[in-house]
Amino acid sequence: MAIVGIVPAAGSGERLGTDGPKAFAACAGRPLLEWSLDVLETVCDRVVVAVPAGYEHGADRVRGAASRSASVREALRAAPEATVAVVHDAARPLVSRVLVQRCLDMLAAGGCDAAVAASPMSDTVKEAGNDGTVVRTLPRAGLWSVQTPQVFDAAALHRALGVDDAVLAAATDDSSLVEAAGGVVRLVEAPPENLKVTSTVDLALAEALLGDRELRAAARG
Ligand code: C5P
Repeated sequence: MAIVGIVPAAGSGERLGTDGPKAFAACAGRPLLEWSLDVLETVCDRVVVAVPAGYEHGADRVRGAASRSASVREALRAAPEATVAVVHDAARPLVSRVLVQRCLDMLAAGGCDAAVAASPMSDTVKEAGNDGTVVRTLPRAGLWSVQTPQVFDAAALHRALGVDDAVLAAATDDSSLVEAAGGVVRLVEAPPENLKVTSTVDLALAEALLGDRELRAAARG
């Protein structure tokens, strides 16, 4: 069995307002991407990163593509030996080894093609039209906000990504493509700190939490 980490890191990150790509923006003293790589490298046999054009230095760096899922497809193509793929966004630096392992264990238990980190919705979710008029309120029970890590049977992910670029561009996560291909996806509850860095507020929060984590690790020796 080969467990391969797949990290889409090729986005521009315009909403964060940094000069370069978001994955390479400084976060608690180092590039955002490196926090996730530290964790994935302890659980995966190899980690392939999809990076923006011009950042393909070193082994296991492939050029990303026009959409997030197309970047995942490029990285997966570079790892034909993968039997299990651990897809994780560079934008989630607070991922933990424990969370990745819980997703791996869920997949290994059988009966599903993917095990994905998620949180039960705490806000009420409404659907609205372009002018802001509410169309309906969704019942909150049973609604989850889906994150990464997302752990896949690599063959199922490969099949799911074999669709038109337009379908990949419309996908906001990879597990939805596996669902569309008829696969079974299970959720693994994630801790609240597994946040996604999108805005400067998220970045400040991530830096505070990572700083705290480092201090606690140093105190443990
Ligand atoms: O834009 P968003 O925050 O949803 O991106 C999630 C992850 O996908 C980020 O780590 C980003 O770098 C990556 N991405 C990518 N290729 C793209 C767009 C986003 O690898 N074309």
